[in-house]
Amino acid sequence: MRLRVIGRSSPYAGPGDATVGYVIEGEDGHFLLECGTGVVAKYLEHYSLADLKGIVVSHLHPDHSADLFPLGFAIKHAVMQGLRQNRVPLFLPSGGVDTFSVALKAFGDLGAHYSEVFAYEEYDDKSRVAIGGWSIHFPKVYHGMNGHGVVIEGEQGERLGYTGDTKMGGNLASFFQGNDLLLCEATVETAEQGEATGHLTAEQAGELATVAQVSQLVLTHFLPGTDVEEKQRLAAMHFPGSIATAEVGKVYSIRAQ
Ligand SMILES: [Zn+2]
Repeated sequence: MRLRVIGRSSPYAGPGDATVGYVIEGEDGHFLLECGTGVVAKYLEHYSLADLKGIVVSHLHPDHSADLFPLGFAIKHAVMQGLRQNRVPLFLPSGGVDTFSVALKAFGDLGAHYSEVFAYEEYDDKSRVAIGGWSIHFPKVYHGMNGHGVVIEGEQGERLGYTGDTKMGGNLASFFQGNDLLLCEATVETAEQGEATGHLTAEQAGELATVAQVSQLVLTHFLPGTDVEEKQRLAAMHFPGSIATAEVGKVYSIRAQ
């Protein structure tokens, strides 16, 4: 499978940028992982909604979910243009459908409209769901709300782990053990900030990658203007393997090791 970075910023997007959004590509389609602000327009630079097989959101913070609102209109438009007929499965953490529905009601009684374009499904840390040929599960991470990591297994056994948003926690490494690529948030500067806000430092991302014995580490979820080379340098002090910082538009190949 392949991973394309649509956006990597948090908690807001700088000029020409998007908050977090990633596309998982395979031979017969793709799905969207996270749908933060600005993601839909940048997604449409590369993809057709005709081929969109699903959407996965790790938690409902707006930098991960706010573009679900324009995405609902974009899918409706694609249906009107004859590009697709069926609804798009939208996977939200447990309780997420009610929360999203309350927001839709508040923003103009839009619930019926979105029910026509999204096929809602909820997951928890025991769920295993399929999108196309991918098998996906959702370990509960440590973000101070109902937030999950995401582990995606491809048809050749290749595995992509994604931390979502999380601070360091007891079982974090076991969730992503042996993954071929770990897409890991590296948001904050100090472990104290991370503990207080539910995020990781670049050093902790490197430590996590080492303990989890992943093959490749990609750092993401940066405040606009972050010195990403410094993030990479700090992670490399703790992880000897391949490290990259998420680059908007770039595609990363994931193969089973
Ligand atoms: Zn968050």
